[in-house]
Amino acid sequence: MAFFLEEPMLELEKYVQKEIKIERVNFECVDLKIVQDLVESLEKMLVLYPEIKPFIHAIGTRPFLRKCIDEIEIKMKEEATLEELTQMRQYLVQKESSNNPMMLFHSYMDQGQPCIMFGLEPYLEDCTHQELITTIKNIKKRNSITTVYNPSVIMYHEFGHCLDFLLSVSYDTEIFCAMMQKGIDPERYWYTGSELYADAFAEYYANPNADPICNKVVQYTNRQYHRRFVRK
Ligand SMILES: [Zn+2]
Repeated sequence: MAFFLEEPMLELEKYVQKEIKIERVNFECVDLKIVQDLVESLEKMLVLYPEIKPFIHAIGTRPFLRKCIDEIEIKMKEEATLEELTQMRQYLVQKESSNNPMMLFHSYMDQGQPCIMFGLEPYLEDCTHQELITTIKNIKKRNSITTVYNPSVIMYHEFGHCLDFLLSVSYDTEIFCAMMQKGIDPERYWYTGSELYADAFAEYYANPNADPICNKVVQYTNRQYHRRFVRK
């Protein structure tokens, strides 16, 4: 990443718009070090999965995303799309969770085009880098997959959800079988299969010595990604 001198947050927003090509970006009120980790890991994901780029419409706080939906809505005319966007907006105004740092919002727009937005939750405002690490540790303490707790993990996790939305991989039999072989019953586990999937995906990219189950999850995802987006 480039070297920033003045107004580092604005520079980072511009960087995401120009280099990562996400049109709507807002990192206001979030700790610079956290934002740097998030941008770096998002960039890494989009180098590996470049076909996802056109579907990502925005990254920012919920009020910012609501503004983005208004902008998109003005451009759109088809009724089906408006309905989808209304649903997305309703989801955005729903009660925010207290300690969840990020959320993925997704929907389909006209002609079935996916629309993806990365939401920075209120928890991230005024939260330090160290506080975020402690929070991730607390959120993940009951899960046997996550062993790394830096802010990149939350970006990888949300990106995992994003791939899952586009490829529907988390409930696939192959993944379920692999989880069960490992002794994890996704149905009985305290969190659902899609969370387990996103955690395994994130762990693979955050930890070079991740459990083999994470390799399996990512290999399977990559095969599906290739099939859908690369091989014509
Ligand atoms: Zn999740």
